[in-house]
Amino acid sequence: MTEFPQVLTIAGTDSGGGAGIMADLKTMQARHVFGTAVVVAVTAQNTIGVQDFMALPAKLINEQFRSIASDFTIKACKTGMLADAEHVHVVAEALQKYDFGPLTVDPVMIAKGGAPLLADNAIETVRKELIPLATVVTPNLPEAERLTGLAIKDANDMVTAGVALQKLGAKNVIIKGGHVTDPQAAADFVLLADGSSFWLSAPRTETIRTHGTGDTLSACLTAELAKGVPMATAIQTAKAYVTAAIQATIQVGHGHGPLNHWA
Ligand code: PLP
Repeated sequence: MTEFPQVLTIAGTDSGGGAGIMADLKTMQARHVFGTAVVVAVTAQNTIGVQDFMALPAKLINEQFRSIASDFTIKACKTGMLADAEHVHVVAEALQKYDFGPLTVDPVMIAKGGAPLLADNAIETVRKELIPLATVVTPNLPEAERLTGLAIKDANDMVTAGVALQKLGAKNVIIKGGHVTDPQAAADFVLLADGSSFWLSAPRTETIRTHGTGDTLSACLTAELAKGVPMATAIQTAKAYVTAAIQATIQVGHGHGPLNHWA
């Protein structure tokens, strides 16, 4: 019997089931890979916002890494919410210790509702310790700005930021456009390890039900990489998956509702 593809998410939980580890596992399930998780932080959260969160002790995080590494054959992994500099460091150390395959770094900083999911002083640690380990990094525009120190106003700035992220050590880069008035910059910019690049655009859906879109994109990408799909194809599949999951809205909760993983 061939081994079923196993993947790992290293991130925070969402009690509301729409983002973080919960979105990751739902996406992985839908993409036919077996999802495992190292919980770094626990949030009290729903579709209205993040009410509270707490990061777990480093010892317990390291024990989870040991548990995973001693039993599973992880073919690809991703990081999400890492809370603060200490936890970014713990995760970066573990990722150097174990071979979990290609790493997708989703540099989660602030939830859509405005709640900070990463301490300000942790950005330098992400830049120095985590980005150099990334097979692919998936920032949105504000995250790309914080990581590169650049102000990103248009498509040209996105290209510059992509190159800067590669200089920081990420092999492949996706900068998620969103929220920009320039029609081209509303697309995502992809810069691959070989220096080639392309833009990814999708029809916009007017909806507030976009909770967990970033997590879903990076989880789908991780799932595809675990199957051995080439990077460019894996990125295109992840974008198509998120777009379909946004379009097929479901009515859950009273705020920024979650995506539809049955789409
Ligand atoms: N909560 C957790 C634990 C997350 O990892 C994320 C993801 O980025 C969010 C919340 C934010 O979700 P969103 O900004 O899509 O509402």
